[in-house]
Amino acid sequence: MYRALAERDSTYDGVFFAAIRTTGVFCRPTCAAKKPRQENVEFYSSVGDAVSAGYRPCKRCRPMEPAGKPPAWLEQLLARVEEDPKRRWKDADLRQVELDPARVRRWFLQHHGITFHAYQRARRLGLALGHIRHGEKWEGVGYTHGFDSASGFREAFTRVFDRTPPRSTTLAPLVVGRLLTPLGPMLAGATSEGICLLEFSDRRMIETQIARLGKWFDCAIVPGEHEHIARLEKELELYFTGKIREFTVPVVLRGTPFQVAAWERLLRIPYGETISYEQQARDMGRQGAQRAVGRANGDNRIAIIVPCHRVVRQNGELCGYGGGLWRKKFLLDHERSRGETIRPEGDMSGARRS
Ligand SMILES: [Zn+2]
Repeated sequence: MYRALAERDSTYDGVFFAAIRTTGVFCRPTCAAKKPRQENVEFYSSVGDAVSAGYRPCKRCRPMEPAGKPPAWLEQLLARVEEDPKRRWKDADLRQVELDPARVRRWFLQHHGITFHAYQRARRLGLALGHIRHGEKWEGVGYTHGFDSASGFREAFTRVFDRTPPRSTTLAPLVVGRLLTPLGPMLAGATSEGICLLEFSDRRMIETQIARLGKWFDCAIVPGEHEHIARLEKELELYFTGKIREFTVPVVLRGTPFQVAAWERLLRIPYGETISYEQQARDMGRQGAQRAVGRANGDNRIAIIVPCHRVVRQNGELCGYGGGLWRKKFLLDHERSRGETIRPEGDMSGARRS
C-alpha cells in the first residue's frame, strides 16, 4: 500500500485510505500532496475507519467527496431516461447505445437495490399514477407509459401499489430519490407535505423503514424527482460545507404519539450541542423512560434533520446510531467545530482530531 501511495497508483483509489499521523488528515492514494514517510502512515480500508480513528479528510484530494456518483457512461443513460421517462427500455435498446445490459443491471442492483428494468418500470408506474389521479382513463395511461396491454399494466400496477388502477384515483405518491453526501449515499422520501425519509442507504433496516412508511402514510412509493427532495439536497450540501446550521425544508413526522414527542424534542436540540437520553426523557415528562426514548430515536426516519445524533450517554460517550457510530462522531465533530466559527469557504475540515 505504501508503494501504491508513493506512486499515486490510481487503481487503488477507493481500495484504501492513507492516514498521516503527523498532520491528522487522511488521503486517497492518489493525493497530490507531498508523500509522508512510511513510519508516519496508517492505512484504512474505509472512510468510516479513518474518521473513527480521529483523522479528518484532506482538503486537497477530498476523500469524502460524495461516493457512489454514477460513472459517466451511466449518467448518459440516466439523462436519457429522464428526457423521456415514459419510454420503456429493453436490453436491445441498451445495446443500441453501446451499453452492456449486465453491467447496467449490476450498477442498479448495487446502488438502488433493484434492477434497471425494475427501476424504470416503477418510474413509469409512478408517472402513470399521476395521470390516473388527474382523472385520465387508466387503460389509455398504460399504453402511453410503455405497457403493451391494459391487462399487463393492470397487473404490474396492482403488484407494485397493492391496489388496482381504477381504485387508485385518491392514492397519493410518496417519491423516493437517492442523494449523495460526504457520508455516503442517502435515500430521501417526500410527500406533498414534506420530507418523510432520509436514511443512509447502506443501513440494513432500510427496507423495513420503507415498508413502515407505506403503512403510516398509505401512499404509493415511487422513484422520481420531487421539489422537497431537490430543496433537501441543496440544504444538505450547505450543511456539510458549514454554511447553514438549520434546515428549513418541511418535514413530516408520523409515528406513535410517544415517537412523535421524542422526535419533536430532538428538533429542539441546538446545532453543535448534545443532551442525554435521561434529559430527553425528563423533558418529555417521562422521567426514567430513557430506554423507550432510545428506541424512539432509533426509529427516527429523518436522519441529520431530526438530529438523533445529538443524543449521547450521560457520561458523554457516543452510542447507538443507526447509520453507524462513525457517522454520529463525524456529524458531532463537524457541528462542534462549525459552532465556534462559520468559515467562509466550504471545506470539509469539520472533523477535528480529538
Ligand atoms: Zn490528500
